[in-house]
Amino acid sequence: MSPRTRQPDMRIGYGWDSHEFKSGNPLKIGGVMLPHDKGLGGHSDGDVLLHAITDALLGAIAGPDIGVLFPPSDSQWKNADSVVFLREALQRVKNAGYKLVNLDSTLILSAPKIGPHADAIRKRVAELCGIPGDCVGIKAKTPEGMGTDNAAIANVAVLLMRSERSAR
Ligand SMILES: [Zn+2]
Repeated sequence: MSPRTRQPDMRIGYGWDSHEFKSGNPLKIGGVMLPHDKGLGGHSDGDVLLHAITDALLGAIAGPDIGVLFPPSDSQWKNADSVVFLREALQRVKNAGYKLVNLDSTLILSAPKIGPHADAIRKRVAELCGIPGDCVGIKAKTPEGMGTDNAAIANVAVLLMRSERSAR
């Protein structure tokens, strides 16, 4: 039996990321610029949601994680558009013979309020991932009692199914 025949029809993936708020940075979440007095520092453009989606996709196919593929220590990824990371993960999912069915996310941050921007984020993420908007969950919570008011955290779950081409 070849390894391919043992491939499951469906796979879940889970991703988590956090970034610290920094003054003077633009705030980008899910590929959307949000009006706020601080942005997210750290790796690339600090898009915590796209990073968690990327890791969830890579995790679903048991691939290397975002930090291995795009090391923060590598200066070429400084201020990079995180869409690049997401595209690489989607390509790897495709190469593995799978496609993304849906994704669900929970953002945890004290500010800004995500509610007014949730539809814009949903639309952008759906477009980037090539899935319908009603297959993208965008939820947000404030970090009650967690002491993480100066950070944005993203949790993401994805479901993959075997693509037609590789289905048997
Ligand atoms: Zn990140």
